[in-house]
Amino acid sequence: MKAVLPDSKIPKRWYNILPDLPEPLAPPLDPETDEPMEPEKLLRIFAEELVKQEMSTERYIEIPRKVRELYAKIGRPTPLFRATNLEKALGTPARIYFKYEGATVTGSHKINTALAQAYYAKEQGIEKLITETGAGQWGTALSLAGALLGLKARVYMARASYAQKPYRKTIMRLYGAEVYPSPSERTEIGRRFLREDPNHPGGLGIAISEAIEDVLRDGNARYALGSVLNHVLMHQTVIGLEAMEQMREFEEPDVIIGCVGGGSNFAGLAYPFVKEVLEGKADYKFIAVEPRAAPTMTRGVYRYDFGDSGGYTPKMKMHTLGHTYYVPPIHAGGLRYHGLAPTLSVLINHGVVTPVAYHQNDVFRAAELFTRTEGIIPAPESAHAVKGAIGQAIRAKAEEREEVILFNLSGHGLLDLKGYEDYLDGKLEDYEPEHFPALGG
Ligand SMILES: *Cc1c(COP(=O)(O)O)cnc(C)c1O
Repeated sequence: MKAVLPDSKIPKRWYNILPDLPEPLAPPLDPETDEPMEPEKLLRIFAEELVKQEMSTERYIEIPRKVRELYAKIGRPTPLFRATNLEKALGTPARIYFKYEGATVTGSHKINTALAQAYYAKEQGIEKLITETGAGQWGTALSLAGALLGLKARVYMARASYAQKPYRKTIMRLYGAEVYPSPSERTEIGRRFLREDPNHPGGLGIAISEAIEDVLRDGNARYALGSVLNHVLMHQTVIGLEAMEQMREFEEPDVIIGCVGGGSNFAGLAYPFVKEVLEGKADYKFIAVEPRAAPTMTRGVYRYDFGDSGGYTPKMKMHTLGHTYYVPPIHAGGLRYHGLAPTLSVLINHGVVTPVAYHQNDVFRAAELFTRTEGIIPAPESAHAVKGAIGQAIRAKAEEREEVILFNLSGHGLLDLKGYEDYLDGKLEDYEPEHFPALGG
């Protein structure tokens, strides 16, 4: 069972949660002065329209016609399935639905914001977008967006991932992007980390620092971020707006579930539904799932921190493990970022969204069951949402409740098979950190 929509149902506007938040967001701080960030300084890093959107309190922002056309080209609207075989295998009275963002041509939700960001940069006359990528999905999406909109793309890819997922690099190069393993010799911060360790495995925080340093020395370049920021989460709301329309063909969901790295795919599905709850029109439950190896939501502290390892980004008030927190490569499940979207942090503080964390072997086991029943191999990140949905369906069974569960399958895992191979061979260890820099540990 599935619901598909015609191109004409691609949403015409994105939903911006800022005016509906239970409390106003704390402003981003200038890393040099600790004073609220001057918008002019942000303009040197991001395309102008994105800076406006970042601070906008308009509830809806129109999606440019060109971006909607490109959404159709890359596979929007994406399908929404009912996981009937998984329900049977679990013997649960719950009904499980999932929105499948892996159906886009790049295989994840990241293209939804990549196209928007590239569009506004191109409109402004910018020539090049520079970014980082961890697992590779964001770099892939931005590379394609650059190709479709006529912009150069340069990607700093965490070195461990660059070595583990060589085909990601191939795809980015096919789309016309330059790809460098990070830390690299190309930047001051990259050289600093390489001096510490010539085989440094890199990480998202370091790659972000390299990308920003590179942008700051090239006036025709801007930086693009794949998660965390308000405008990025807003672009992703096409997921939830479509899903609302699609669930009308079935039934009202009770519980909405997503995995969380920086928060963008979760927000993309959930925020249009969160709006109804904040307005008192519905009482959906929201569950946000993360790995125990990077437990930002469940063990992080809520305070100002940098978005990158080098301390170049504005400081944001968010749940954080500390910007120097580092997840070792033994963790194969992705979602390694130390921080969290400020809007999602606020919703967690107010009890609107409930976070949970799982060990990676449990997550891969859930993905294996999903693969055998529904046929789709989830991205390891998305597998956290699968695990969350299965956990919820099992609880519904124990309590004999007919619950309606909707989760976001944010991407497929066809380029992440090394992690699955290690899981099948029993080589994955459940990693649980004891100390976090944000807690002084
Ligand atoms: C990047 C990514 C994530 C994590 O990032 P969010 O911003 O939290 O969505 C999750 N799933 C997939 C498939 C991704 O590519």
